[in-house]
Amino acid sequence: MIKPFVPQLVYIEPGALEYPLGKQLKEKFEKMDIEIRETTSHNQVRNLPGDNHFQKYRVAKSTLVVGVRKTLKFDTSKPSAEYAIPFATGCMGHCHYCYLQTTMGSKPYIRTYVNVDEILDAADNYMKERAPEFTRFEAACTSDIVGVDHLTHTLKRAIEHFGESEYGKLRFVTKFHHVDHLLDAKHNGKTRFRFSVNADYVIKNFEPGTSPLEKRIEAAGKVARAGYPLGFIVAPIYLHEGWEEGYYHMFERLDAELPDYAKKDLTFEFIQHRFTKPAKRVIEKNYPMTKLELDENQRRYKWGKYGIGKYIYQKDEEQGIKDHLYQYMEKFFPNAKLEYFT
Ligand code: SF4
Repeated sequence: MIKPFVPQLVYIEPGALEYPLGKQLKEKFEKMDIEIRETTSHNQVRNLPGDNHFQKYRVAKSTLVVGVRKTLKFDTSKPSAEYAIPFATGCMGHCHYCYLQTTMGSKPYIRTYVNVDEILDAADNYMKERAPEFTRFEAACTSDIVGVDHLTHTLKRAIEHFGESEYGKLRFVTKFHHVDHLLDAKHNGKTRFRFSVNADYVIKNFEPGTSPLEKRIEAAGKVARAGYPLGFIVAPIYLHEGWEEGYYHMFERLDAELPDYAKKDLTFEFIQHRFTKPAKRVIEKNYPMTKLELDENQRRYKWGKYGIGKYIYQKDEEQGIKDHLYQYMEKFFPNAKLEYFT
């Protein structure tokens, strides 16, 4: 049972106190007796406690920076959405293969932005440009937004905002089960709530600091019963002893938990485990004891953008994964839509 995230250290940028959410968070953390430091910019969050990289990394992962989002130009987020909507960056989880380790580099702390109205206004402008086409926004490109939302309720506001919009849709993915405050949000079917799921073995060994499979599945049941369109990202699909049963059991549990009506509009995304050379170096630095198999010689090399190729499973292994997972999906969820396998 993992408890909702509580930061050990909070930084507040002065500009953040000009927004209601900034003030609210300051009061909340004062009451919780959490150490608060003021800073002029998040780039100053440098002198985090800790004697070495390993310790500093861990402190950063439990540090929350309350700030103002200056850039209101959104990144694109193809193919699953048109834009990435920036409510937060960083994550308190410790997944050994997390892509944020390479993308966030020296700034692994969590930031939440309090100028939510400005961010939502910017989203409205993007929607206007594309109307009458729908515009989809992905809220989990640079963080696990659900993991921090019990403190800020930003995601809840966004869900309701898109619920009222004519041409906007929201989506995000999470490894956390702290969803109760989102269940009564007026989503109007405009938000697709996705859970990242995996075989028990993979979650237990490589995803410390996130919710166990059982809890994620329970949360998915609650979200389905609250009428949200639902989806699952099975990632990273990782070969380990007994993986066939591990993934079978996961599908079986999902099937038992979800109400029938939710099974009619379900999406799946399958992503096999992969790594790049730079990612391998960061993983070995941040999680030196990891059991994660990162042997280039066992893998197939796939050329990638910017000359950084990735190591994926051999052809026959990849086929084995596809054969099994497609079969499970077909058996338990014949009406689900497979968005992609990669
Ligand atoms: Fe990274 Fe997601 Fe794990 Fe957080 S929950 S550490 S964002 S993989």
